[in-house]
Amino acid sequence: MSGLAAARGLIAAGHEVLVLEQARGLRLGGGAITLWCNGTAILEDLGVDLEGTGQRLTTLCLRTAGGRQVLEFDLEALAQRFGSAARVIPRGSLITLLESGLPEGTVRFGARVTHLQADSDGVQVKTETGQEYSGDFLVGADGVHSQVRALVLGGDQAALTGAAIWQGLTPAPFDPGSTTTLMVGRQGDFGFMGAGDGLMQWFFDVPWSPGAPPEDKPLEMLRRQFAGWGSPVEQVLASLEDGDAEVFPHTRHKIPCRWGEGRCVLLGDAAHGMPPVMAHGTNQALEDVATLVDCLGTVPNPTAVVRVYSSKRRRQAALASTIASRALAVSGPRTLMQSEYLMRMNGATPPRLATRGFGHLLRVLSSRI
Ligand SMILES: Cc1cc2nc3c(=O)[nH]c(=O)nc-3n(C[C@H](O)[C@H](O)[C@H](O)COP(=O)(O)OP(=O)(O)OC[C@H]3O[C@@H](n4cnc5c(N)ncnc54)[C@H](O)[C@@H]3O)c2cc1C
Repeated sequence: MSGLAAARGLIAAGHEVLVLEQARGLRLGGGAITLWCNGTAILEDLGVDLEGTGQRLTTLCLRTAGGRQVLEFDLEALAQRFGSAARVIPRGSLITLLESGLPEGTVRFGARVTHLQADSDGVQVKTETGQEYSGDFLVGADGVHSQVRALVLGGDQAALTGAAIWQGLTPAPFDPGSTTTLMVGRQGDFGFMGAGDGLMQWFFDVPWSPGAPPEDKPLEMLRRQFAGWGSPVEQVLASLEDGDAEVFPHTRHKIPCRWGEGRCVLLGDAAHGMPPVMAHGTNQALEDVATLVDCLGTVPNPTAVVRVYSSKRRRQAALASTIASRALAVSGPRTLMQSEYLMRMNGATPPRLATRGFGHLLRVLSSRI
């Protein structure tokens, strides 16, 4: 997503762009993602029309494990305030929309970058099959296990955090409307939302250990762990088959001070892989895109772009990553959000105040809204 979004922004700004993608074609599988008002605003700036795709969100509800609603955030009010609405969009739909605006031939498939060489005049890369490409500038948007990051910054890998997300996009067993709901408790969290076309995106974040044997019956495990949770946990689990649930271990990068070197920069998960909790990864990647396009247009010396771009982006991405990593405890004491007692105390917060707080958070995490 980051690479295609960056390509759109850079082409619109007058650059010539080639995207090198290791896969043989567009990867359209996977679940749906939540885009907050900042992410959708940037996509609109990039000329991506989201109307009619996925599900517009009007409300975010936070509930205890028992099912009691403790906080309600009015996303429609934030849409009015920021001029763009939060939305849930299947990954495949977003990737198709992003790619459909690119000139033919912009994306070269089956091109896995394995080597790179850069000097003050430009960058050369080589792919697995020996193909060589050169350009003035390289944007490493190659995901959390970024090869470009390893080649440019050295070998620090994203670390496993001790949690994982089990998730899927399946026919909705009931109509969740335009509300996205998150339930939090000591075992982890559970979230669900409509994703358009009668589909529901659902997920469970749970403690996870890399040494544990693979789970062939994930639904049994989830039923066990989330037994006693309030509605609609049981109903959602009852509507699934084991093959519907995919697991992704949470990973997190140490966010570097400089997001690149010379004429090579990192963007999206390559720069700041973070757990999916609270749904900031793609939103932050889109913030990277907007900032990078701006820097490439305004910073006169290409080798100074890395410094300016990193300093503009680092704090917001680091905050999003901290929020995503600290919401759930994977061992030891629970976090504040996982305590039913403290969560219930939050129930006294009026929706207007809660909405204002969430809007403030989105603004702090964004340079666009
Ligand atoms: C289960 C789950 C749910 C999530 N939900 C949300 C959400 O609701 N909201 C949100 O904002 N974020 C969410 N995220 C985070 C989001 O998915 C990522 O932040 C986002 O995908 C990052 O996009 P990217 O383009 O930087 O990386 P990727 O999507 O990983 O894309 C990297 C691309 O680079 C290619 N590539 C890799 N190496 C090479 C190479 N050497 N040469 C050429 N090509 C290469 C890959 O094939 C891939 O196409 C979620 C993540 C997970 C795991």
